[in-house]
Amino acid sequence: MNIFVLNCGSSTLKFRIIETDLDLIEQHADRTLAMGVIERIGSQALISYQVEGKAALKEATPLRDHKAALNYVLKLLTNPDYEVPGIKGLEDIHAIGHRVVHGGERFKSSIRVDDEVIRGIEDCIELAPLHNPANIKGIYAAREVFGSTTPQVAVFDTAFHSTLPETAYLYGIPYQMYRRYKIRKYGFHGTSHRYISYRYRDLTGKAREDTNIITLHLGNGSSACAIKQGDSIDTSMGFTPLEGLMMGTRCGDIDPTVIEFLSHKEGATIDEIFAMLNKRSGVLGISGLTNDMRDLIDEVDEFNDRRAQLALDMFCIRAKKYIGAYMAAINGADAVCFSAGIGENSPKIRSKICEGMDHIGIEIDEEKNNIAVQGSEMMISTHNSKVKVFVIPTNEELILARDTVRVVLNAPRRN
Ligand code: AMP
Repeated sequence: MNIFVLNCGSSTLKFRIIETDLDLIEQHADRTLAMGVIERIGSQALISYQVEGKAALKEATPLRDHKAALNYVLKLLTNPDYEVPGIKGLEDIHAIGHRVVHGGERFKSSIRVDDEVIRGIEDCIELAPLHNPANIKGIYAAREVFGSTTPQVAVFDTAFHSTLPETAYLYGIPYQMYRRYKIRKYGFHGTSHRYISYRYRDLTGKAREDTNIITLHLGNGSSACAIKQGDSIDTSMGFTPLEGLMMGTRCGDIDPTVIEFLSHKEGATIDEIFAMLNKRSGVLGISGLTNDMRDLIDEVDEFNDRRAQLALDMFCIRAKKYIGAYMAAINGADAVCFSAGIGENSPKIRSKICEGMDHIGIEIDEEKNNIAVQGSEMMISTHNSKVKVFVIPTNEELILARDTVRVVLNAPRRN
């Protein structure tokens, strides 16, 4: 089956076409046929598109909405210069898998989209006002462009964390606030943590029930996850993605009193303060230079910039503290797995996070850490390290495609 995987933001549309089915999943032989990103939908949009084995296309054209963007993608698919093997037109796309950010407490696994499901995703809008509306736009656009008979499946970022126990997901505020408004930790990046956990099992031959690991998705947005017997039992992002690790522009954990104090001192509104905490804090806020880890490391290496170094140190110490906390939560993990832009590509950050953790059994082999090849899976701990350390590149799109196949064919989930 050819699955069209769609990830819609408010002005972006990322897509992949993945050939997969139950046999291909079993043989790990699913294949990405084409991928692309459209940015700045609503004005002069920027398109990048790549078909497997062909030169990349980059161009700009006005696209007014997500439907126009999808129609544009379809035109590309049928353009002989960018032909995708096995795809001649709409009829060769067999199903669509959507990344949906928030499934609230209702959606605990991936599900076929119908009007009732759309209403459910709409009900979660107040929990993810920036993301769910864009995901719904993508669903409606896909329905119009591909037709209502092409099955659509929603895969939720929050679903993997639906196994969190009450003790982990409740905040220490009056219980009525949870009852009335469903204020609780939901967690995000679930598809990524799930993929990393599945790859760990595959690499080590462990059964799901024997999988006790800590996964670190370290990208521009970052989160940690404690996985016990294959289930997420705690994660660092919370009611929103603002909680937890310090990130590119988000502050991570903070005493809420700071918000009240700041509003008095700066005469700022709640919205202004949250814009600061979400968009101008974290690595960017501390360094005053950049939210981009590569640039931050360059500033440290080339100019010995004090605040860049401070931001880098804070980023690492916070990740380290979550590892410690989750070691306690799962009574010792068998492995720590690094993933996403920073986790996959920066030996320096991995090394700094793991340094001084030999007392809890984590020892990195610096040689292996430094030669870990971009995009490949590797164990980077020493032979004696009680807790193994892995680099596992994430692949959320693959999970989206596989879930779509399983839901459409009504086959049980395997990872
Ligand atoms: P993501 O959100 O997963 O795409 O990750 C984006 C982050 O990964 C940005 O902060 C990048 O600077 C960072 N990143 C990518 N490559 C490297 C690298 N080689 N070293 C350090 N950080 C990197």
